[in-house]
Amino acid sequence: MSKPGILVPRPMRDVVMRGLEKRFALYKTFESEDPDRAIAEAADHVRGAAILGQKVDVAFLDKLPNLEIVANFGVGYDNVDAHDCSARGIMVTNTPDVLTDEVADTALGLLIMTVRELSAAERWVRGGSWAAKGAFPLTKTTLIGRKLGILGLGRIGKAIARRAEAFGLEIHYHGRSRQAGVAYTYHDTLSGLAQTCDTLMLVAPGGEQTHHMVDATILKALGPDGILINIGRGSVVNELDLIEALSSGTIHAAGLDVFEHEPNVPQALLDLENAVVLPHVGSASVHTRDAMGQLVVGNLVSWFDTGRAITPVSETPQKE
Ligand code: NAP
Repeated sequence: MSKPGILVPRPMRDVVMRGLEKRFALYKTFESEDPDRAIAEAADHVRGAAILGQKVDVAFLDKLPNLEIVANFGVGYDNVDAHDCSARGIMVTNTPDVLTDEVADTALGLLIMTVRELSAAERWVRGGSWAAKGAFPLTKTTLIGRKLGILGLGRIGKAIARRAEAFGLEIHYHGRSRQAGVAYTYHDTLSGLAQTCDTLMLVAPGGEQTHHMVDATILKALGPDGILINIGRGSVVNELDLIEALSSGTIHAAGLDVFEHEPNVPQALLDLENAVVLPHVGSASVHTRDAMGQLVVGNLVSWFDTGRAITPVSETPQKE
């Protein structure tokens, strides 16, 4: 029997390419000088797609009449129109759980970097200011006694909360629903959460529903001692409102791992001393990216061996 065809539109980690090559006929269309033509030529043979960040929308799906499964590298899948996939009976999978601890660790690191100005302090040493000017100025903010508000108390949000508990922080959260089995304080609005807390940690997914949820009103509610951390998706924050809030002192500082138009970060944000910026490195260790890659391969293998995916997204649940 011929091997199922898998479309790989962008280069992926070795662990993915090697894993897929063993089992499938790969259509690595990124190797072609004309990827669109390469996809058109492969289309009839393609039954699965291994996706790294690119848009999977109606136009993409229309090109692939025999597509059965879209295996997304990453837990966030706002790049994939899962409702359209569902309507066509196409399975969508993501890579939850295997990255939760790594992203939560990064979130806490980013929080501390931001509150205690650690990247500026490092620049102080490297730039020779310590020897030339003396001690780095005392930071105006401290982690001690902060009230942490988490937007999106899901897998990663809960792992962040567990870590924050160990730091002695009071924990509040907002999501569309109250989470079972947690003792943290639930707020039924984001503005209520921002009003109560001085530290806002964003871990919600991207997409239409969360687009620009954090805007000027929310930042004003967070207040002048406020710290905003975004480890979720850039689209959740209105970046222009954030730049204004950081420039005017409406909030104290922000730590950002994700941006609205990655990899482009507005110069106005880069110019601000009270913004700590990271290049979307939440899950970016070899260990964790390999685990994510193995899950991409695992989902495709499981689908074609058994008709079941390992980690289907909520829009395309496994049929019993
Ligand atoms: P998850 O378990 O699905 O948690 C998502 C949480 O967001 C849930 O608690 C959900 O609660 C809440 N939420 C969803 N839609 C919402 C809305 N419209 N309004 C308010 N809350 C909403 O996902 P996860 O594994 O924790 O991952 C969360 C996100 O982190 C991913 O989607 C991804 O965008 C991001 N991420 C970033 C990195 C990085 O490198 N920076 C790495 C991995 C993941 P309700 O259902 O109750 O609303």
